[in-house]
Amino acid sequence: MRTAVVVGAGVGGLTAAGALARAGWKVTLLERDDRLRPGRAALVLWPNGVRALQALGLSGGLDGICTPVPPAGIRRPDGTWLVQPGASQIGSPPVVVHREDLHDAFIAGLGEQVDVRAGIEVQSARVHRDRPAVGDGRVTFEADLVVAADGPNSVIRRRLAASSTFASAGFAAWRAVIPWYRVPELPREVAPHGEALGDGQRFAYASLGERGSSGGSTRGGIYWVATVPGAPRPEPAAGQLALLRRWFADWHAPVGQLLAATEAEDLVQEPVGELTPLPETFGVPAGRGGYVLVGDAAHAMPHHLAQGASLALEDVATLHSVLVGSTSAGLGPALQEYSRLRRARALRVSQQSRKAAAVLQRRGRLASSLARVNPRALDRAAAVSAEWAGPTG
Ligand SMILES: Cc1cc2nc3c(=O)[nH]c(=O)nc-3n(C[C@H](O)[C@H](O)[C@H](O)COP(=O)(O)OP(=O)(O)OC[C@H]3O[C@@H](n4cnc5c(N)ncnc54)[C@H](O)[C@@H]3O)c2cc1C
Repeated sequence: MRTAVVVGAGVGGLTAAGALARAGWKVTLLERDDRLRPGRAALVLWPNGVRALQALGLSGGLDGICTPVPPAGIRRPDGTWLVQPGASQIGSPPVVVHREDLHDAFIAGLGEQVDVRAGIEVQSARVHRDRPAVGDGRVTFEADLVVAADGPNSVIRRRLAASSTFASAGFAAWRAVIPWYRVPELPREVAPHGEALGDGQRFAYASLGERGSSGGSTRGGIYWVATVPGAPRPEPAAGQLALLRRWFADWHAPVGQLLAATEAEDLVQEPVGELTPLPETFGVPAGRGGYVLVGDAAHAMPHHLAQGASLALEDVATLHSVLVGSTSAGLGPALQEYSRLRRARALRVSQQSRKAAAVLQRRGRLASSLARVNPRALDRAAAVSAEWAGPTG
């Protein structure tokens, strides 16, 4: 039986562990946290991410936990339109999903076959007994394949592609879900989702359904994400929330109401950065097997196109597809093919993501030229990112 060690239990690691186990591999999943926790808040999944879930056989029940987010236009802080809702030409809209719902689906997808080891922080990656291996300083885990799904600051990537570094994109970002029982009553004319841009600042929100009415999910509420120029804030969450309320004071409804209804414990601040340059290869032969990079470990990028998780799912669907039929003695060609398919795709989306960030977070005098933003430029960035031909490219 072929063996794999998957490092990291985020979107990429959980789905990779499940996919390999379902394909008959013996899988060990290592996570540094003391248990497998869902990421905080919610995620937007574009059609490419949903297609990848389908390819992985994980799309059953998605309708019950996902809420569509059709184009709703973009406003200025005073509520006037920068981009009218009808101006957008995107095809199938993305969906928004509570991360706890997605996590439950991924845990169910692990089945009984995955050996989950929480509380293991990988510190090293090197060949051991002619096989790729990782270690936490006490125990060495070796396998035919090591999947590095350990996020933007991946220890394994630092070992395999030392010149790629995760650098700040110059923004700080916060996300929160206001649970359904605390959602403020919003004026009837306020749309269930929307986006607003100010001088370098951005606020977007989307409803996850009321009172758990989003199909089978009991995790309704309103998800929002705010992005501002500058470094992450060192204050405790309550201080960060006070700052956000000040920065977005006077923005059109429902921004103020949503921030007022948010509690410090809902808030999660996350670094926004980009991996540059992308690693030369996402698949590295080692001994009789090899390492692969998936998700943010391979291609972390700013969140302006909301593509990070969808790309991680594409990675895993592609990895699964190239590994089916390969033998442990012959993993080399599969790793090469994985890298060929995934690196070109990640490069393309990260370029689009950079373009979108430049448009969406313009500052100073440039911000006023947003009035002349051609919505087609943003649509194109979204469309290029959301198009994906499937695991075989
Ligand atoms: C503000 C913001 C909004 C976003 N919104 C969206 C969105 O709407 N849609 C979307 O698709 N994407 C979005 N993203 C991006 C998305 O969150 C990430 O791309 C995605 O979560 C990456 O998943 P991952 O599994 O690769 O990495 P991670 O989620 O970072 O998971 C890595 C896992 O590895 C573990 N780990 C790390 N180091 C080690 C180690 N040494 N040993 C063992 N375990 C380790 C970590 O504890 C973690 O569990 C957003 C990002 C930000 C910052």
